Amino acid sequence: MRVLLVVMDGLGDRPVKRGKTPLQLAKHPVMDSIAKGGISGISDPICPGTVPGSDTSHLAILGYNPFTFYAGRGILEALGSGVKVYEGDVALRCNFATVDSRMNVIDRRAGRIDGKDAVALAEAIGRIKIKDTEFIFSRTKGHRGVLIIRNNSSPMITDIDSHGLGSVMWAKPLDATDPARRTAEALNEWTKRVNQILKAHPVNKAREKAKLPPANIIISRGASALAEGLPYKGATYWGPHAPTPVKVQRFQDKFGMSAACIAGGALYKGVARYLGMDVLDVKSATANLDTDVVAKVEATVSALKRNDFVFLHLKGCDVAGHDGNWQAKVKFIEKADKALKPLLSLKDTLIIITGAHSTACSLKAHSANPVPIAICAPDGVVRVDDVKKFDELSAVSGGLGKMTHSNIMPIVLGLIGKAPMYGT
Ligand code: ZN
Repeated sequence: MRVLLVVMDGLGDRPVKRGKTPLQLAKHPVMDSIAKGGISGISDPICPGTVPGSDTSHLAILGYNPFTFYAGRGILEALGSGVKVYEGDVALRCNFATVDSRMNVIDRRAGRIDGKDAVALAEAIGRIKIKDTEFIFSRTKGHRGVLIIRNNSSPMITDIDSHGLGSVMWAKPLDATDPARRTAEALNEWTKRVNQILKAHPVNKAREKAKLPPANIIISRGASALAEGLPYKGATYWGPHAPTPVKVQRFQDKFGMSAACIAGGALYKGVARYLGMDVLDVKSATANLDTDVVAKVEATVSALKRNDFVFLHLKGCDVAGHDGNWQAKVKFIEKADKALKPLLSLKDTLIIITGAHSTACSLKAHSANPVPIAICAPDGVVRVDDVKKFDELSAVSGGLGKMTHSNIMPIVLGLIGKAPMYGT
């Protein structure tokens, strides 16, 4: 039996209209028929009372304890965006931002700079050497990018990005080692040098004239490193979230299933590569509300012919949740549901559908509310319960009860007959 995991990022929500959530308001007959023909439950992404990150919730869904295997965001973004990462490299996630003359951040996204301006500025700071440390900056999408620090560096440093406005937070070492001290010093110097280069760049002079915020600094965060091993074949990672290097067993080896991922967003591709999965490219996948769900589903159906396990990621609900736009979330759920229809005719396949976490429209942020989950499988595999609809409230009375995302893979292994036996 093959396994298909459909993750709707940011799916769960709080009541937005007449006491109902976007998932309760939307029409989604395909998701309902998965719930109707299978078993439902409600799942806490990390644990009750912890607001899940997108990175940590996906590690949990895929069967890796997020408290052990989360090395930091930088390395996941780098792997996902296709930037080459070598042993010893430190990766950070970055934003183009705007600072005033006293180095106070006044716009964290430099007016969401994009297009030709962003390309030209990224080129100007692509490779810079500070003493014997090399800094390689690659722009990913919009105002975002990834920074690789190469040569004798340590990920044990604090963020430059304060995640808010105000003074730039200069990096500090998090341990007493020489590499940590040197990396923090070199990153601070790089950040100041980048500010000098960007400030004087003709693109920024033109932006100022046009009353647009100049992208005159790179603020970075989430330092993490590849300690050893090739990134796509199972490797060792570390960073402030995992101060002792963690060896990540490949998904294929851990669960005995070949595995592929179909996603638009760099982070999800990065998580998949981090775990050694194949990442399949769908050109029209945008990780946004306008994504081509039909093409992603086609790619999924075809990937299931060659893989035991396929992870399909849909980002739209999270985007609408962060924008606080529940109408857009309802629309995206309905669009996705229509596109998911071919999944109902899959043979010999166990399907799991769930949310990575809740992104509450009222908060414009992730919330700790649990998300619904439904699992359907060929006849005789799951004990079909009475739940007829796929939403946060209906799922509560289902046969899976209340669980956490870390339970998903063990439950799946049990259902497909791959769970280990304990005792005789
Ligand atoms: Zn999010």
